[in-house]
Amino acid sequence: MFDALAERLEGAWKKLRGQDKISQSNIQEALRDVRRALLEADVNLQVVKAFIADVEEKALGAEVVSGVRPDQQFIKIVYDELVEVMGESNVPLAQAETAPTVVLMAGLQGTGKTTATAKLALHLRKQNRTTLLVATDIYRPAAIDQLLTLGKQIDVPVFELGTDADPVEIARQGIQHAVAIGVDTVIVDTAGRLQIDADMMAELARIKETIQPHETLLVVDAMTGQEAANLTRTFNDEIGITGAILTKLDGDTRGGAALSVRQLSGQPIKFVGVGEKVEALQPFYPDRMASRILGMGDVLTLVERAAEQVDLADAEKMQQKILQAQFDFNDFLKQMRLMKNMGSLGGLLKMIPGVGKISDEQLSKGESQLKSAEAMINSMTAQERVNPDLLAGSPSRRKRVARGSGHDDAAVTKLVGDFSRMRMMMQRMGQGDLTGMPGMGGM
Ligand code: GDP
Repeated sequence: MFDALAERLEGAWKKLRGQDKISQSNIQEALRDVRRALLEADVNLQVVKAFIADVEEKALGAEVVSGVRPDQQFIKIVYDELVEVMGESNVPLAQAETAPTVVLMAGLQGTGKTTATAKLALHLRKQNRTTLLVATDIYRPAAIDQLLTLGKQIDVPVFELGTDADPVEIARQGIQHAVAIGVDTVIVDTAGRLQIDADMMAELARIKETIQPHETLLVVDAMTGQEAANLTRTFNDEIGITGAILTKLDGDTRGGAALSVRQLSGQPIKFVGVGEKVEALQPFYPDRMASRILGMGDVLTLVERAAEQVDLADAEKMQQKILQAQFDFNDFLKQMRLMKNMGSLGGLLKMIPGVGKISDEQLSKGESQLKSAEAMINSMTAQERVNPDLLAGSPSRRKRVARGSGHDDAAVTKLVGDFSRMRMMMQRMGQGDLTGMPGMGGM
């Protein structure tokens, strides 16, 4: 999603390479590149200015760490600052002490507000929280139908009073109904207009006043860039929000909105929408988003997404294995098969460190490489699969695997080498160590 941004930033790092320390003069060009990259990604100007000033101050004040190159140090500073701007850690949805927790959804029409309402209900169910959805968009009969349909699809009740009732009254009765049926959380979907208008704001303010929500979530379309900044400012000033959901991050979107929303509202992005399906909602992790912006991939998200396909205990084991560098060829094979089941290989590949920008041609090459890897792994003995070092240390074992899989020795040597490097990098990333990462050293 942040391809253009990542590409730009790569240029900035390159310029710092070969310098022996960060200084006022050698940093200017890199800062200009970061600034341009952020503006091109539609980050709000005010946010960019504050960001650059902070990065410069921190970079100049940074202690020179021996063994760490200035470009790596600068990347770390930009990374830390990105994480900070986007909010340090994932902030979960509020839960009221006495049920029901009331969530008010706000946003413009077409941003994915109604879809997000259903997505959220499904997400909460995974935490054993029950929900009621409330349909207050009386201006578009289709909106009520849409929520009813989604509710039926995920088996969550929907409260509505048709299109003749007053939205404030629907919301009020919706909460009463939630209390009566004893659900844990009630999510109130509201009317959106194509543009911000005074009537919409006034109605939203009345609904908020009446139902006193624990959460007011602004749904922001990530594809709207600068617009997202204005929207955030207006809704936060006039209604007051407690968080945001950034939708359509699966598309060809620029990253600007993610940076702007938190900075301008002071409120966290709590979830991201990554597809049209009701399952396509993920918690927002600023640190992961920052690595993604910097083109470092997002191994942890990848593992997590895979986890939804396998069972949870299995996924935890996998994460532990990654952290302890015990990830072996069996795990690799398992992940590869999961990827195939998960659909878009392209989207998944983009999350792997070092696989920044890929064309269709590269993608099909990637797929055939995966197939070759699978054939080679299939030719390994059970012992070799759990202990990749056996192969690293034995040319005759590699020769046998090469013959068995119909590849040459060099291909097997490469697979084994790539695999141990990947294992080391995953471990370092898992531990939050960004210095000396192979992906960066090679930039
Ligand atoms: P609302 O008018 O804000 O309630 O928007 P809807 O929920 O009706 O969504 C508008 C359109 O955006 C629909 O076609 C949705 O399927 C689509 N949509 C919503 N969220 C996402 C998302 O995260 N990714 C993608 N690709 N499409 C989404």
